[in-house]
Amino acid sequence: MNRNKLVLHSVQPAWMIDAGGHCPQAEQKPSPNYDHRPDGAEISLLVIHNISLPAGQFGGSAITDLFLNQLDVTAHPSFTSLQGVRVSTHFLIRRDGQVLQFVPVNLRAWHAGVSSFQGQSACNNFSVGIELEGSDHQAFEEAQYLSLQKLTLVLIQACPIRHIVGHQDIAPGRKTDPGPFFNWKQYKELLVHAAQHESMLVPTHALPSFPFML
Ligand SMILES: [Zn+2]
Repeated sequence: MNRNKLVLHSVQPAWMIDAGGHCPQAEQKPSPNYDHRPDGAEISLLVIHNISLPAGQFGGSAITDLFLNQLDVTAHPSFTSLQGVRVSTHFLIRRDGQVLQFVPVNLRAWHAGVSSFQGQSACNNFSVGIELEGSDHQAFEEAQYLSLQKLTLVLIQACPIRHIVGHQDIAPGRKTDPGPFFNWKQYKELLVHAAQHESMLVPTHALPSFPFML
């Protein structure tokens, strides 16, 4: 072995949000369901959701099709109610941890609907939405938490996010996601760990607040 030869192993590029609001580590699936945020809106909130189509079934293209207005509503009886529905999210994290992006962060995705946080209504105006492929009735995958960790850290760096909440917290009585199986404690610990051990990123004291304290 030539010890003088520097061998560069393949280094994964750090995750980032580019100037256009895209995460290059996410597969881009541009959705037509977006518009502009109000002038002066500060992106201060991160909203965690779950979604599965049909409910409780994972894989397939139905979620992506929904966000791209390409869902065949005849494909499953439960899809009938989605006829004409125009919704989106900024990000979707699939069961295997793959991240897809539908709307640039700087634009307004249509994920929260009628909602309110700390007296501010219409949370789409000032939030980023992350959908986890999942349901209210079963645990999420470790790969999803790891992708969520990476994505959250770059979003915190790119945007003045001060709070992380579930959809259920900003639309109580109407929405139940991400539901009881989303592990807020694990999520927060992953963020704190990264902030403490990966030099960089985010000082621990700058981490956003969570709906539930550890
Ligand atoms: Zn939701």
